[in-house]
This record gives sequence, C-alpha cells and structure tokens, in this order.
Amino acid sequence: MSVSDPPPLRQDLSGARFDQPVIEDESQPYWDAANQGRLLIKCCTACGANHHYPRPFCPKCWSEEVEWVEASGGGTVYSYSTVYVNDLPPFGPEVPYVAAVVELDEGPRMMTRLVDCTGEDVEIGAPVTVAFQPFDGEQCMPVFRLT
Ligand SMILES: [Zn+2]
Repeated sequence: MSVSDPPPLRQDLSGARFDQPVIEDESQPYWDAANQGRLLIKCCTACGANHHYPRPFCPKCWSEEVEWVEASGGGTVYSYSTVYVNDLPPFGPEVPYVAAVVELDEGPRMMTRLVDCTGEDVEIGAPVTVAFQPFDGEQCMPVFRLT
C-alpha cells in the first residue's frame, strides 16, 4: 500500500463481536453480579454520590473511597433511539432495536437497550426496570423493559 492508495472502505468483520465487553479486574464484580441478576453501581463513601460506569474514583469529588452498591433496578427513560442499521456483528440481524440512556433511580445514567418493545412504545420519562440477558450464551448484560 502506497501513500496514494485510498484506505479500504470496509473491513471484513465476519467473526468479530462488538457486543462483548472487555472484563477487567475493576469491572469483574459488575459482570459477576449481572450473571446473578443484580445491577451494581459505585457509591462514593466520601461525598455520597453514586456513579456509573464503574470507576476506581469518584467523578464528583475524586475520592478513591468508592464501593459497590446494588441498584434497585428501577429507572426512567432519559433518551432513546431506534436503531435500523448496524453493520457491526452481531447486531445486523437484531435491527430494529431500541438503544437508550436510562436514568437509574439512584441517579446515574447508563447506556443500554430497551427490550420487548419498539421505539413507538417508548416515551421520555417512561418507567423501566432492569432485566438480564445472556449475550453470548454465558455472560449476562443488563437491559431494561418498560414497566
Ligand atoms: Zn465523591
């Protein structure tokens, strides 16, 4: 490939999976809890703020005194969008689906999917509850359903 060659427009992504998380030591408890049907978030013992995604420090006061707490699993729809096109494996056959940002009852917002509904069923502020779906036959992923 020379400097003048244009970059390839598409890569061969067959076999790749874009729905699987990279599970590291820091996030292992989160994923283990998901497999047990529990949603964990982090709480700062210095200032009391909850946060998600989990970090080893508080994004509000920078304290490293953070601990895992179990969320209620309740929340409301903060934002959503129906996805009609997604070329990344394995999402192609799953369209259309509803991608959303859910505001948890404990405060943090999380990216997720709304399941068992279409975008036409969803309204901003609608109450939702967490559910857990295996996405590779083993590891469970938190998703949400309208309540
Ligand atoms: Zn804090």
